[in-house]
Amino acid sequence: MADNRVRIFDTTLRDGEQAPGFSLKADEKLQLARALDALGVDIIEAGFPIASPADAEAVRLIATEVRRPVVACLARCRRGDVERAIWAIEPAAHPRIHTFIATSDLHLTKKLNMTREACLAAAVETVRLARQHTADVEFSAEDALRSDVDFLCRVIDAVVRAGATTINLPDTVGYSTPDEIGAFFRTVRSRVSVPDGVVFSAHCHDDLGLAVANTLAAVDAGVRQVECTVNGIGERAGNAALEEIVMAFRVRADRLPYTTGIETRNIFPTSQLLGALTGQGVQVNKAIVGRNAFAHEAGIHQDGILKDRRTYEIMRAEDVGVPWDPLVLGKHSGRHAVQRRCTDLGLTLTGDELVAVYRALMTIADERKVVSDADVVAVVQSVRTEARSRVDRFDTPVARA
Ligand code: MN
Repeated sequence: MADNRVRIFDTTLRDGEQAPGFSLKADEKLQLARALDALGVDIIEAGFPIASPADAEAVRLIATEVRRPVVACLARCRRGDVERAIWAIEPAAHPRIHTFIATSDLHLTKKLNMTREACLAAAVETVRLARQHTADVEFSAEDALRSDVDFLCRVIDAVVRAGATTINLPDTVGYSTPDEIGAFFRTVRSRVSVPDGVVFSAHCHDDLGLAVANTLAAVDAGVRQVECTVNGIGERAGNAALEEIVMAFRVRADRLPYTTGIETRNIFPTSQLLGALTGQGVQVNKAIVGRNAFAHEAGIHQDGILKDRRTYEIMRAEDVGVPWDPLVLGKHSGRHAVQRRCTDLGLTLTGDELVAVYRALMTIADERKVVSDADVVAVVQSVRTEARSRVDRFDTPVARA
């Protein structure tokens, strides 16, 4: 790969899916994995097989069906985890085992009750075991940003010698700042001796709203894999948002001269699919994919946009798959127009959904003459939420491991 090509490691189905309110069934995960394939991600982290039998089955299903990208799955540095991971990704065309252990003294003493030496030994042994089954092994040093850098470098040197091909250094708790993480990756890279093929990776959380800024700083410091999720979903405040990283590279190529394999026109449809499957939409002002991201209501802005879109738009809505032309849906519109608009917005409706959506939109049109894209998206979401809550009443939720 060219030196400025950044690999997109999507963990929507692992870090994202394990966040409260985002759990998905196996067929839904497969549907999303196919969308991520069409989006052009390089690596799909499909799950954490030891977490539950259902998670393991879903990883195996995706590994069987989705052939182009690397399919990865997570395993702690424990034999049982790795054996489960091996089983789950065994059918993959391009399997990766992603193994991790915490390296910070805080996690080692308080959480794992483990010495540094035991941690190092477990990491090396696990990477060796994983390498017996696939040539593509990623090692993550959990809480890397708060780890002792001398010890961290020892661990990296040792796991690379044991066969790890990607070294991921996560800011697990979203504590870092851009300057700090940039300096951190420069220091670590200068102090370890790793062969050329080994890729450094960043995994940033958004607890301070800095996940994307930190990710970009890490790339500037030589990282060539970024771990991210669609809509920025993930543990707590979430992970770095895939769409924001990719569009920062695209829009500010003058400052960020990096490329990805992402087909940007599939960004919005993938975001919508995730929202529909989880029942969790994004905030209206969310960058790139929020329903106001390309909306202009203030008169001065509308005037500018109509004269030249560049006055208030730094990227074109069409380039991220958001239909730009404001199609006027009114009370004279028919069901076909509604269905077409939904399709343009990346929302595929069932027959029953179309009936309910059409009825709700016509009520809005009676009051307000014109129906906006935002109305369409909101109505589809509320129709689906209602349908979901009807199903949930007959469906006892099952506790997850
Ligand atoms: Mn994480």
